[in-house]
Amino acid sequence: MIVGIDLGTTNSLVAVWREGAPQLVANALGSFLTPSVVGLDDSGQVLVGDVARERLQTHPQLTSALFKRYMGSAHEVRLGKCTFRPEELSALVLKSLKADVERAFGEPVTEAVISVPAYFSDAQRKATRVAGELAGLKVEKLINEPTAAALAYGVHQKEETTFLVFDLGGGTFDVSILERFDGVMEVRASSGDNFLGGEDLDDALVQSFLERQGAGLPDTSQPLLRHRLRREAQRVRHALGQEGSATFSLRDNDREWSEVFTPDQLRQALEPLLERLRGPIERALRDARIRVADLDEVLLVGGTTRMPLVRKLVAGLFGRFPSMHLNPDEVIAQGAAIQAALKARDAALEEVVLTDVCPYSMGIETTQQVGERYDTGFYLPIIERNCVVPVSRVEQVETLHDGQREVLVKIFQGESRMVKDNIFLGELSVAVPPRKAGEVSLDIRFTYDNNGLLEADVSIPLTGVNHRLIIENNPGVLSREEIAAKLKTLENLKIHPRDQQVNSMIVARLERLYQECLGEVREYVARLANDFQRVLDSQDERQIREVRGSLNERLDQLDRGF
Ligand code: ADP
Ligand code: MG
Repeated sequence: MIVGIDLGTTNSLVAVWREGAPQLVANALGSFLTPSVVGLDDSGQVLVGDVARERLQTHPQLTSALFKRYMGSAHEVRLGKCTFRPEELSALVLKSLKADVERAFGEPVTEAVISVPAYFSDAQRKATRVAGELAGLKVEKLINEPTAAALAYGVHQKEETTFLVFDLGGGTFDVSILERFDGVMEVRASSGDNFLGGEDLDDALVQSFLERQGAGLPDTSQPLLRHRLRREAQRVRHALGQEGSATFSLRDNDREWSEVFTPDQLRQALEPLLERLRGPIERALRDARIRVADLDEVLLVGGTTRMPLVRKLVAGLFGRFPSMHLNPDEVIAQGAAIQAALKARDAALEEVVLTDVCPYSMGIETTQQVGERYDTGFYLPIIERNCVVPVSRVEQVETLHDGQREVLVKIFQGESRMVKDNIFLGELSVAVPPRKAGEVSLDIRFTYDNNGLLEADVSIPLTGVNHRLIIENNPGVLSREEIAAKLKTLENLKIHPRDQQVNSMIVARLERLYQECLGEVREYVARLANDFQRVLDSQDERQIREVRGSLNERLDQLDRGF
């Protein structure tokens, strides 16, 4: 049996071709969306999906998310005593999806079509194939995410067409312009923003709530309140898709703070972020040398495009309504399943892939002045992910302190705001003439070529001195022997039993609440946890089911501060 898989940064989905249409398959918790989060439980068993995501906060050392951003690099993630490469973590997500389909249809799943972003480089594509192999899947084909969207929306049925795919997910924004011509689908341009997605909108909404409340709030940097605020922001953001207004409330120790948000107020709160959607669109159009009027269609992809606000903005930008008769977070998996069906009939859509791109953003560490304080560790990208190679870009930075004699240029690759979450590539110490802060500027030029060589040139216009560092960027593709060894290790890992996931989800939520709460509420959570453990120990399925229902409601209330 062959499946289509959307291996996403935030969520992954699997679909199969049944009775002439793609059909999504639910996971053990009944959801089509499996969070792309992997963890180990206290006995070393592997957890994937919602349960793992629930433990991100309580067990950060044992849980990992967003690893798609590291695909194709040699970056390793440590979970407890084990280390994992990004393709291994992806393999565990794939295994979980595979098990869901096998459970639903009672047939072994042996092959898959997996989607990848259009800008994925050769190394990132190879890593995705390896992930499939490690999960016991023969990867029949990788399909570009925007191409998968085109298949799901039926755009491929037109002989000649040019369209734009607008994909706003949990943490990334991707724009692609595709053309179908002479029976081949070609990605003409791809652009995006790595720091723009639903979760960033949630942060902005939290900020707006805090500003409107002003003083009088408790310390909202506490993990419990942070968590509540972000959850609440997401709830409000989703609710405003259907309702004329929604109340954002924060509860803590019998006190409550709330603000009503209308769609218009939501728009205001998110305006600065929404503004940032324009740039990548313009860049993609420019790169593809296409005018808005030449586009036959605009396709919406990604959960965040469910927001009416985003849809309106897209309609405004393109002067027409986008295609939106499908669930935007499901279309990629559907398209992958269609490609899988075509493949089985030997009629797969031909694609031209775009791999002559720089796979990661590369940049330097910077310091920001916040009032009197200097905060360091911020990432300043110089070459941005997915620009066509060879590429050369320059950024200017200045000295920070009076009389400063040296600047240390630290070079990183990755997509995280803070350099500690990116991969360190090398550093260069540069002597500068002592002047007042900000008076000496440095031009930092990055040049990246097709061979994965990064050249960093630092020049000081004031003195005319130049420094150079060449970094050979190991793309980190595993060898056959390494794959064989990884297969063995993965086989030896115990996967948390599927039929216990519903219960484990409750245990994980109780643990998180215990960690977040204090005093009486904490004692109450401990009591709930003990009681639930006793019911679990009884192994009485009916009783477990009953308790589970009411407990889930209670947990929802606790999460909202009741
Ligand atoms: P990715 O492609 O990054 O893996 P998805 O396409 O699944 O992720 O998008 C996840 C994002 O979609 C989350 O930030 C979530 O808040 C957002 N989202 C899902 N449903 C809705 C909705 N009804 N309204 C607004 N945002 C939504
Ligand atoms: Mg996606």
